[in-house]
Amino acid sequence: TFTPASRVSRIKVSPSSAASARARDLKAAGRDIVDMTVGEPDFDTPDDVKAAAHAAIDRGETKYTAVNGTPALRRAIIGDFKRRLGLDYAENEICVGGGAKQILFLALMASVENGAEVIVPAPYWVSYPDMVIANDGTPVIVECPEAQGFKLTPAALEAAITPKTLWLILNAPSNPTGAAYSRAELEALGAVLLRHPQVFVLSDDIYDQVWFRDEPMTTLAAAVPALKDRILLTNGVSKSYAMTGWRIGYAAGPAPLVAAINKLQSQMSSCPSSVSQAAAAYALSADQSFVRDSVAVYKERRDYACARLNAIPGLSCTVPDGAFYLFPNCAGVIGRRMPEGKVIETDLDFVLYLLDGVGVAALQGAAYGLSPHFRLSIATSMEAIREACDRIERAVAALR
Ligand code: PLP
Repeated sequence: TFTPASRVSRIKVSPSSAASARARDLKAAGRDIVDMTVGEPDFDTPDDVKAAAHAAIDRGETKYTAVNGTPALRRAIIGDFKRRLGLDYAENEICVGGGAKQILFLALMASVENGAEVIVPAPYWVSYPDMVIANDGTPVIVECPEAQGFKLTPAALEAAITPKTLWLILNAPSNPTGAAYSRAELEALGAVLLRHPQVFVLSDDIYDQVWFRDEPMTTLAAAVPALKDRILLTNGVSKSYAMTGWRIGYAAGPAPLVAAINKLQSQMSSCPSSVSQAAAAYALSADQSFVRDSVAVYKERRDYACARLNAIPGLSCTVPDGAFYLFPNCAGVIGRRMPEGKVIETDLDFVLYLLDGVGVAALQGAAYGLSPHFRLSIATSMEAIREACDRIERAVAALR
């Protein structure tokens, strides 16, 4: 019989993928489910992006590309970072992969060994700890309570750093909370990092264009230029351009790290899809009205859903700065009794109650490292959001 390598048995399947699959299965079995677990835009990829992919196929761009991406895509990435963040990167500081997820995994694979420590602020994207563990590192989870806006404080960062710390992972706007750091907050974190020159930063900015505030979104590399050579800035087209299935992610950072990532990629996948690269290059350089229009829609949904959830006694929801998730607090329902008598003891009990009782699929905060909370995606229609809020309201009202 087959026994997987220990790096496989040490990790788990992404709980968000598992929950989405469960919601799909229940739907397929005929249950009336409102699926609030989805981690991808409900919009279709813009037509002009699809046309750019067709054109690339017709031009014969259907072969292997350079390991670090096509020149056109590299130029588009450099142009995007310059235009939106004022950051200058050279071509040898850019890598391209099959999604930001692959880039993050390769970055850890290229750098982590012997239990090196990776600081992961919680709540975190479910994949970070497992990616670290799969690469023989040690995740160091730092809780960032809601009272601090779910954000890492300089004091908590300082306390978490040891001589073995190799990376800090910063993800803003965050999955699952939508929280983001102000320039002043980034400068304060930067002051700590400048005192610890062994620490690199994985800045996962995949949601940075899904941004709701008036002041522009900023990132550590722009707020603290002295740290730029210690930051791997990762991003991708999945979330901003509704291109999750095209699998293009990329990063900018110090040339030796980028070279190591490219070396691994040369032995792993050679390069991401040539057609997807052409589509991504187009998306990053073309008119950006799709981004503006979709963000306006997400914002309307966010405002509606937050207002509805905050009106439910027992629940409360901090308003996210960006991304397309809500991370409501459900402390007020813990300890209460479901109609059939069982007590809700954890946020997992609560999401299972929502699923069984009213057919709303959500994810427990525990999967993201912070309880008692649950995650709802608003990358779904207003109709579905309204229905989900009605059902959650009904479910909570039925508790004793
Ligand atoms: N980072 C975060 C925080 C995410 O939520 C996701 C997707 O869910 C990714 C990275 C990966 O995006 P992709 O691999 O589609 O580029």
